[in-house]
Amino acid sequence: MAGDCIFCKIISGQVKAEFVHEDDEIVAFKDIHPQAPVHLLIVPKKHIPTINALEEEDAPLVGKMAIVAKTLSKKFGINESGYRLIFNVERGGGQLVFHIHLHLVGGWKNVKK
Ligand code: C5P
Repeated sequence: MAGDCIFCKIISGQVKAEFVHEDDEIVAFKDIHPQAPVHLLIVPKKHIPTINALEEEDAPLVGKMAIVAKTLSKKFGINESGYRLIFNVERGGGQLVFHIHLHLVGGWKNVKK
């Protein structure tokens, strides 16, 4: 837990969020400023500030984040229509919260096939 990290506070329950998943290592909740009809954040409980801070030992955790994303895509009915998974990395990559998180976005209508 990092003292002033908003996502650590959400994980510990100090700050509210609309949770859609929780297990021993990962939580997921709805983004408060959704950029798509479905916009979820998949967040490890371990405080890792950016993708650039990942260690080899974190590989299974990041893989599990992708598995949780796939499972949530089914739960939210966008698995077959498709979706995007995005890591913003560092300020230049659009990262605002320095606790790694995977954006799951989708659910747009009128997608051309
Ligand atoms: O990847 P980036 O760091 O830019 O994304 C942070 C995301 O966290 C934003 O989409 C923002 O809306 C979301 N957020 C949230 N709940 C908070 C603070 C930020 O869902 N309390």
